[in-house]
Amino acid sequence: MTANPTRVLVLNSGSSSVKYQLLDMAESRRLAVGLVERIGEETSRLVHTPLATGGARRVHEGPMADHDAALKAVAAELAADGLGLDSPQLAAIGHRVVHGGLKFTEPTVIDEVVLKEIERLVPVAPLHNPANITGIRTAQALRPDLPQIAVFDTAFHTTMPEYAARYAIDVATADAHRIRRYGFHGTSHAYVSRRTARLLGKDPSEVNVIVLHLGNGASASAVAGGRCVDTSMGLTPLEGLVMGTRSGDIDPAVTFHLKRVAGMSADEIDELLNKRSGLVGLCGDNDMREIRRRIDEGDKAAALAFDIYIHRLKKYLGAYTAVLGRVDAVAFTAGVGENAAPVRAAAMAGLEGLGMAVDADRNAVRSDEPRLISPEGARVAVAVVPTDEELEIAQQTYALVTA
Ligand code: AMP
Repeated sequence: MTANPTRVLVLNSGSSSVKYQLLDMAESRRLAVGLVERIGEETSRLVHTPLATGGARRVHEGPMADHDAALKAVAAELAADGLGLDSPQLAAIGHRVVHGGLKFTEPTVIDEVVLKEIERLVPVAPLHNPANITGIRTAQALRPDLPQIAVFDTAFHTTMPEYAARYAIDVATADAHRIRRYGFHGTSHAYVSRRTARLLGKDPSEVNVIVLHLGNGASASAVAGGRCVDTSMGLTPLEGLVMGTRSGDIDPAVTFHLKRVAGMSADEIDELLNKRSGLVGLCGDNDMREIRRRIDEGDKAAALAFDIYIHRLKKYLGAYTAVLGRVDAVAFTAGVGENAAPVRAAAMAGLEGLGMAVDADRNAVRSDEPRLISPEGARVAVAVVPTDEELEIAQQTYALVTA
């Protein structure tokens, strides 16, 4: 008798990259992790770490024409470790899908109807959904017999009340074009808000948490009793916090102004706000480490970029405090949130009136574990909670196929 399959492969397909992890859910361990970058270019690169065998990281450089070639290369790497995709121990493949609109509120078994719906959402996620679809089709071709599960970045936010999700524009126009706040990074906000509750020794239903996912992309969410009630990203991931290369909140009239006065096209404005704004637009760097180094050297542009970034964070902390009424915890996560102590200290500075503060010694500790950084006895628990979107996708995928 063969045991039930317990492995899940998680695929996160970007326009020119694929990130992957193979996990064993019964043993709660990662067997392999890796990344293919620059798909479609001469300089494609695959980095594979075989955690199960404890072997050394393997790097392959050389052209990979498309996602099909990339996934086949990944499959070959896994096979070399005895973890091939043909293994009967593989239970399912879990795919990160960025935009699930309003239809997909839960992880979903992918069939042609589901794929059509993900395709129908391409106009609201032109950069992400096509890559996700390509990844799914390629994986289906490799293992047509296996359940393929979509886990949507938007799903966690579908609980937002209508008054938080609807923009104050003409209802007929908004509805005709499906314009509303969807929110993104939902898998991370779900994982981190739940993990924060556990850190406090509570059930998620008992706590109100503000999650600050601060990576190159950044978003905040207000989570009341385990349900998202507001989030900073909107129709697209452009809205909200100041990000590595995105502006976040801006007067929409700036866009008409750029068109009418500067003669820029819609595509040029899109590129400006998504790729040449945020920290990189303000000071030329989007890496918080580099920005802090420049500030230490007295660089004024870097200091102003940092202050603008922090000011926006504080505005959202205040807004979400009001939205939630009572805040039990603030959780910092993702590249900046997990690593940049000066960002956490600055974001919390002066918020004692909201019951929020950071203990300098606790904040300085470096660790991969969830931890509290607020002073003993603080009204609001301030925490650093490393995110793990791949684990969350694997758990949701496995739960669905074993239900
Ligand atoms: P993510 O998108 O979550 O991978 O976050 C990437 C960003 O995290 C980078 O662009 C950096 O700005 C930031 N980051 C990563 N490591 C550190 C660190 N040690 N200190 C400050 N910022 C960091």
